[in-house]
Amino acid sequence: MILFSEKDIRKIEVKWQKRWREAGIFEAEPKKGKKYFVTFPYPYINAAPHVGHAYSATRADMMARFMRLLGYNVLFPFGLHATGEPIMGAAKRIAMGDQKQIEAFVMSGIPREKVKEFDDPVKIVKFFAKTWVRDFQNYGLSVDWRRTFYTTKLNPEYNKFVTWQYKKLKKMGLVVKGKHPVIWCPSCESPTGSHDRKEGENATVVEYILLKFKFGDAFLPAATLRPETIFGVTNMWLNPEGDYVRAKVDDEVWIVSKESVKKLRDQEHEVEVLEEFKGKEIIGKSCVEPLSGREIPILPASFVDVRNATGVVMSVPAHAPYDYMALKDLGKLNELKPITIIKSEIGENPAEKICEQMGITSQEDEKLEQATKIIYRREFHKGILNEKCGEYSGKRVRDIKQKLVEDFSKKGMASIMYEASEPVICRCLTRCHVKIIKDQWFLKYSDEEWKKRALECLKKMKVYPDEARNWLENAIINMKDKACARKSGLGTPLPWDPEWIIEPLSDSTIYMSYYIIAKYVREGEVKAKNMKDEFFDYVLLGEGNPEEVGKKCGLDPKLLREIREEFEYFYPVDLRNSGKDLLPHHLPFFIFHHVVFFPEKYWPRAIGANGWVTVDGEKMSKSKGNFITLRQAVEEYGADASRLAFLDSNEGLADADFRRSAARNFKELLLKILMTLERFKDEKGGEDFMDDWLRSRIQFRIMKTREHLEKMENRSALLHSLHGLWQDITKYIQRKGKVNGKTIRYAFDVFARINVPFAPHTCEEIWERLGKKGFVHQAKWPEVRKEWMNEKLEYGQEIVDKLVSDVNEILNILKKKPSKITFFVASTWKREVLKEPKKLKEAIKEHGNVAIKLANILKDPSKRPKFILDESEEFELLESMKDYFKKVFNCEIEIKRENESEEEKAKQALPGKPAILVN
Ligand SMILES: [Zn+2]
Repeated sequence: MILFSEKDIRKIEVKWQKRWREAGIFEAEPKKGKKYFVTFPYPYINAAPHVGHAYSATRADMMARFMRLLGYNVLFPFGLHATGEPIMGAAKRIAMGDQKQIEAFVMSGIPREKVKEFDDPVKIVKFFAKTWVRDFQNYGLSVDWRRTFYTTKLNPEYNKFVTWQYKKLKKMGLVVKGKHPVIWCPSCESPTGSHDRKEGENATVVEYILLKFKFGDAFLPAATLRPETIFGVTNMWLNPEGDYVRAKVDDEVWIVSKESVKKLRDQEHEVEVLEEFKGKEIIGKSCVEPLSGREIPILPASFVDVRNATGVVMSVPAHAPYDYMALKDLGKLNELKPITIIKSEIGENPAEKICEQMGITSQEDEKLEQATKIIYRREFHKGILNEKCGEYSGKRVRDIKQKLVEDFSKKGMASIMYEASEPVICRCLTRCHVKIIKDQWFLKYSDEEWKKRALECLKKMKVYPDEARNWLENAIINMKDKACARKSGLGTPLPWDPEWIIEPLSDSTIYMSYYIIAKYVREGEVKAKNMKDEFFDYVLLGEGNPEEVGKKCGLDPKLLREIREEFEYFYPVDLRNSGKDLLPHHLPFFIFHHVVFFPEKYWPRAIGANGWVTVDGEKMSKSKGNFITLRQAVEEYGADASRLAFLDSNEGLADADFRRSAARNFKELLLKILMTLERFKDEKGGEDFMDDWLRSRIQFRIMKTREHLEKMENRSALLHSLHGLWQDITKYIQRKGKVNGKTIRYAFDVFARINVPFAPHTCEEIWERLGKKGFVHQAKWPEVRKEWMNEKLEYGQEIVDKLVSDVNEILNILKKKPSKITFFVASTWKREVLKEPKKLKEAIKEHGNVAIKLANILKDPSKRPKFILDESEEFELLESMKDYFKKVFNCEIEIKRENESEEEKAKQALPGKPAILVN
């Protein structure tokens, strides 16, 4: 096949996908030798995949392909997630005729005239399960598709698997009924897990202390995270425009925001509203600080958010930047002087100091948030209460919080209120709050022994990049009991309390082991009716014996043994790669559950995390017109160019940017690469130093690519495998008189192997055009041939690179076409001085100013050349590049030795840096 146009790129990809499928090269079966099991979190199938979904999968695929070349038997499966609210929600919205949902489905490939039928969640799951597999197959992932499945009770076998897990967890005492504050959607009447949220995915429950200030016969319960600051209170804040109520709360009367009434009710208080009013109606009056009985004024502040906690805030201007600025805005700082109550490195009035430092000018300034955090952190960890704090003076802030809460509660002046750490909006678009629920099922992540083992597992794991390790560690350490079921949505019911459905993060913890079983289910060898608890106990945990289990489950003991052996072969998970958004929950849960189900040898080995995906530098959105489905990307740019656009844009936890222009350029580049191979692979040029040079560069590229791939540094690896090696090949072709086909074929042989992780289709095509047998995916990672590495030779070409760029610079300044360019090669004595600095003195005597430059080089080691070539070596190097220089500059080229020339210019020549004369 001869290449004509870019259209052929996609044709090539389709051809290879078909051949891979027919040969089943990605279908992994246990065999002798080392294995590698790589996974990524199964995606949620409530719409067609878009480019944002592809990045984590592409990185997992990159590692799968890399490890295959290193000789591992790689298993890379792909599951589909359907648990939870989103699919049910979409079905409901379709039934309601919601236009936005209809358009979203049409965009996902559902024919408009059929959209109405998709008010059935089963239909949605089945349609998108097909769509996802098709789109990712067209993208060419190296997945064993025989192991694909979707979740929930719509898949009876997977349902059995989750049921088995929860029975076990309950038996181990790790699922418990408890009373806990959870983030709650009042409209769904259900706890709102991270994945049920439209906003505030990482919000947690925080505990506010309400300090009750006497106000006539009522109380103003000020909400604070810092009870110690009561000693520094100067006034109370209310939002003058906010809606407040006077309400009977249990057996007291409170003044709180109207918003807070439903929260208090959901947090075990009896609330009866007596009267409603605006904040400004009681502003100007005073209330009584409960500890000392001081009378303090109630003042207005716009920063008070009535949606947060009680909407009543006490003012501590010495330690709270908001309070300081609000008092300043009111011009009341003279009247109500800040009272410093904490000794710390910041000194007196820390709020004032930090506001000045940060240039904060009013209470509306966004920087106040940051200022508050800085002070809180410093004072919490290092601050000590001063003499104004009575019996608590001398105590560390860090140690005293709990005691203060207890003491104040005993005095009847404090209460607790829970609030989300940031605003949370449910997918049903309702604002959530914290509710204490009593009869809910929780995973007992607070269990110390469980945490200890999870941390032990993490300690033994590799984490890429390493900065993600801290995230995981903190998540595990701070993990609280977590609601594991909801009353609505798709999923598996709790086996002992089936009105509760296990929520999406809780049915996804050890399902990687189900990929082993899924293959047998697909082949019809195991059915739901065979999946008694004993089946899982045996194949996953090795408990029981196959004869008895076989009898009980209606399965051949031989088959059971085979499944068990396959599990033992592929487990543990060697790498799980995911977006960084899963670092706070899914990835820690993955660790937590593995350590209780499996012995240490089956604990996961490594976690990789990456950033999110933007398109053309912006968050993807339908309204911005930068929303691209995976299918569109593959059709437009091809699979390889799309992969490269992700993998080349970033690495680590930074977000990847899918730039359409980059994808387009990669498509052109791949075509150019294939055409270059075709053009030069049979050239008959002879061997010379340029062939040695290219072979040397190739070893360096192999080494660097591997080094970076081993750390999952996709962009750094590509810098060598693709950009670097391609640049080397191009240089070779340009600088060599007549190209040697054998050298070109060797270069492309290596190019194909080390780029398999990035552009697999193109690499197969190169492989075939080189006349190689089999698939490049079954070839080996190239060995580095140290004996071919020649730094001196590489240095020679660096001299040439530098000369070309220097001449171009001169031509730019002169703005003329040269008729002749002369290069002068530095004399031998200069080389000797650089080799033996003690000869400098003598040289200055003999050559005067010309030698001074050498003194400068000797003073600064960074200026010294890597190698000092002999005069004749450097002369011959330039002589041999003469034709190349002629081609580049299109004029006569002369190479002269410095000491054979009368030109004044010649004296400027330095070793490795010939002087240049342009005529
Ligand atoms: Zn909701």
